[in-house]
Amino acid sequence: MKASFHSRRDFLKTTALAAASLPFIGAFSPCARAAESGRKINFALAGLGSLSTYQLAPALQKTNFCKLAGLVTGTPAKAEHWKAQYGIPDKNIYSYDTMEKMADNPDIDVVYVVTPNALHADLAIKAAKAGKHVLCEKPMEVSVEKCQQMIDACKQAGRQLAIGYRLHFEPNNLECVRLAREKTFGDLKIIDAGFGFRIGDPTQWRLNRALAGGGPLMDVGIYALQAMRYLSGEEPVCVSAITTVTDPVKFKDVEESIVWEMKFPSGVLAHGSATYKVSGIGSFRASADNGWFELAPAFYYDGIRGRRSDGEQIHFPAIDQFAAEMDDFAQCILNNQPTKVPGEEGLRDVKIMMAIYEAARTGKTVNLA
Ligand code: NAD
Repeated sequence: MKASFHSRRDFLKTTALAAASLPFIGAFSPCARAAESGRKINFALAGLGSLSTYQLAPALQKTNFCKLAGLVTGTPAKAEHWKAQYGIPDKNIYSYDTMEKMADNPDIDVVYVVTPNALHADLAIKAAKAGKHVLCEKPMEVSVEKCQQMIDACKQAGRQLAIGYRLHFEPNNLECVRLAREKTFGDLKIIDAGFGFRIGDPTQWRLNRALAGGGPLMDVGIYALQAMRYLSGEEPVCVSAITTVTDPVKFKDVEESIVWEMKFPSGVLAHGSATYKVSGIGSFRASADNGWFELAPAFYYDGIRGRRSDGEQIHFPAIDQFAAEMDDFAQCILNNQPTKVPGEEGLRDVKIMMAIYEAARTGKTVNLA
């Protein structure tokens, strides 16, 4: 199975992104039809934590095809503030336990699941059963089985399921995919990618295996894994890995840092790292027969830029990645087209991350093919 970003359509979209700068999608894209209809897709955010508050709600205000119409929260007091700020009617506010009532509410089209990782499946399945499309944050869930249940529930309900892979809409990352696919520097041979930060509060859910499913690999290493997959355009055939813990009090439940190595069918080798101990890691470099290209930083919300071995810069203007991701999903729904970041893509990452953990646990190379 090939990773995303492999079609000519994606290249054209990249070119359109670059040409049009902002707004980020060119006139010939499917959104032209959506714009004519004037209909917007109504989103409900489920989980009103940091990402929803500081990224998603503001991004929704910048979208062309979406509206923040509803909320799902376990803390009613939070809803009061959100209601006032975003003009959300009481009838569109739910708790995690009342979501099935959404089935009677035509004013919500999509539930965007933004809770701790291990709660994604429960909410996604409730949303699908209520007849809503689902956009779910990464990582999709904490086990392959739960990812599959989400896919099955959405399929059964006839609703779309997308994963919040914002970098699939980011022009500098898309440009690197183009360089890889067009073999501008020849065949890829080695990919190095890593993402990490120094984690604070020791009581947070990210350090709790039951809620997070793992440590920095699940949280930010997934971006490095994604880069390996979208740059190579292939799925890994085997993986080896090693973890470390130097602060056993803070990291009693999840790894502190992890590095892994992967081989792809064409022979590309990849080396990845993820950490909760060190800040400032967040880049990739792809080395090919006749040169290299890199993004540093590669995965942040803004400031993404890079270089090539021929001296050229990679520096497309920043976009709001979340607005682009949500607008794309809205267009997919409006035009009845498949998303390029479906549940199956989230499942593939979770499957590989589970293999990485198995390799670290056993000290053996794990075959994926
Ligand atoms: P957060 O801790 O800031 O917010 C989590 C929300 O879930 C809070 O509102 C909290 O009240 C609620 N919640 C419900 N049940 C909970 C429980 N049992 N324990 C703890 N919180 C509970 O987290 P966040 O940073 O907003 O992350 C939420 C999701 O978004 C995660 O899946 C994360 O991986 C993802 N995320 C993605 C990006 C991205 O760039 N795409 C960035 C940050 C987070």
